[in-house]
Amino acid sequence: MSIMSLADYTFWEKFEKDYFNENKDAYNRKKHQLAEILIEQVEGLLIPGLKESIEVMEIGTPLTNIRYTQNPGGAIYGYDRNKKHLESRTPAKGLYLASAWANGGGYTPAMMAGRNAVRHLLNDFKTL
Ligand SMILES: Cc1cc2nc3c(=O)[nH]c(=O)nc-3n(C[C@H](O)[C@H](O)[C@H](O)COP(=O)(O)OP(=O)(O)OC[C@H]3O[C@@H](n4cnc5c(N)ncnc54)[C@H](O)[C@@H]3O)c2cc1C
Repeated sequence: MSIMSLADYTFWEKFEKDYFNENKDAYNRKKHQLAEILIEQVEGLLIPGLKESIEVMEIGTPLTNIRYTQNPGGAIYGYDRNKKHLESRTPAKGLYLASAWANGGGYTPAMMAGRNAVRHLLNDFKTL
């Protein structure tokens, strides 16, 4: 089971330098503190006894996302939702964009961005 909440990177940015220097005490304390709050909220609202039933717990933050994906700000959905998405075909010949940063976040939009990029590439290839 996973409990997720979107997080503003500005909150985690202050831990960034220490995090990447393997100095994670303050970061870990904050991460666990926030996880406890989330668990308590879910327990109170939805799943009585949740805390007692947890055997293994992994906690991820935007810094975790940066470590694994290199996405700026640990973004999981690409650009801010209110920003216009980019076209897969760019003005630069031979450069196509895929990923959540091209077509919007989530598995399906990211996969569709890949499909769009390949479609453009194949069409352009035909007209060479
Ligand atoms: C905890 C979590 C839960 C999520 N749950 C859902 C969900 O339930 N449903 C959903 O639709 N979406 C979910 N998402 C969002 C979804 O995972 C992303 O929107 C989607 O994976 C973005 O795909 P992408 O190809 O753009 O980037 P990514 O999946 O981030 O892939 C980018 C890849 O490039 C690699 N990379 C980065 N820099 C380099 C480099 N210099 N050289 C080589 N490789 C590099 C990274 O290691 C990574 O493997 C979730 C995200 C997170 C973090």
